[in-house]
Amino acid sequence: MDSPNTTTRLARARESLEGLSVGDAIGESLSYQYYRCRELSDFSAFRPGTLRFTDDTEMALAIFETLQRLGGIDEEVLAWAYSTRYRKDPDRGYGKMARHILDEICNGTPWSGVSRNAFGGGSFGNGAAMRVAPLGAYLFDDLPAVPALATKSAQVTHFHPEGIAGAIAVAVAAAVASSQKGKPPAEAATAIWEAVLDYTPESKVRIRLAMSHGFADVEAREVAREVGNGSEISAQDTVPFCIWSACQGLGCYQEAILSTIEVGGDCDTNCAIVGGIVSAYSGVDTIPIDWHAAREQLPI
Ligand SMILES: [Mg+2]
Repeated sequence: MDSPNTTTRLARARESLEGLSVGDAIGESLSYQYYRCRELSDFSAFRPGTLRFTDDTEMALAIFETLQRLGGIDEEVLAWAYSTRYRKDPDRGYGKMARHILDEICNGTPWSGVSRNAFGGGSFGNGAAMRVAPLGAYLFDDLPAVPALATKSAQVTHFHPEGIAGAIAVAVAAAVASSQKGKPPAEAATAIWEAVLDYTPESKVRIRLAMSHGFADVEAREVAREVGNGSEISAQDTVPFCIWSACQGLGCYQEAILSTIEVGGDCDTNCAIVGGIVSAYSGVDTIPIDWHAAREQLPI
């Protein structure tokens, strides 16, 4: 039987997963008209449960299922969970390299060799960051444990230090966001920045995080212009803006997502990251009802 601690941790992870997944689905759906996202953001007439989520949610579900089963992360189990979900439903917008890695794992090749050799030194794509917020929220009461488990969750498919740094930054942000529940948004944002800069290893991701942290009264578009909006699909081009946008938007899930979509780039992944952090802080009830109802049910 689960200890109360595990039950609470899973509930925190679930809150983050819901925000991640709605962000993923809404971001994907509005990505082609990102500049008009505010006028298109009413989903109340949408048939419930038919707005599809993408690979971001699929892989976050694999992390959540692994936490449910093990209370932690084991790379072998997680590799199997990622690849099983992929094999069951491959048309969720996985990138070319992700498909290759997951195909190889499905065929019985050990994850370590495939992941290490991707792109000749491991992938630094944003795929490890896009799925990890629920793991951070799960560890809301044990921040020092976050980097090691985030690394494990990342390296199964993203072996490059930048890919791992991106995952650590997002997981730390979600852990602190969940631990700051009930505190004023500005106070929570300060705590998130402090921990993210503290725990993210030296990397391009961290250099751009430090740049982002300096943008206090700057418009989202300008921040994205300086540090990236995910259009290069790399961790360093994605994570710094997303952490900035989540910290700006802690007080309102809807506004956080819309202002994230407005900068364009990798909209579903950007919104998965931002949504996973913001809902870890503010809870599922702050997700717009029409958005939540439109997204297909999570298979949990
Ligand atoms: Mg996606």
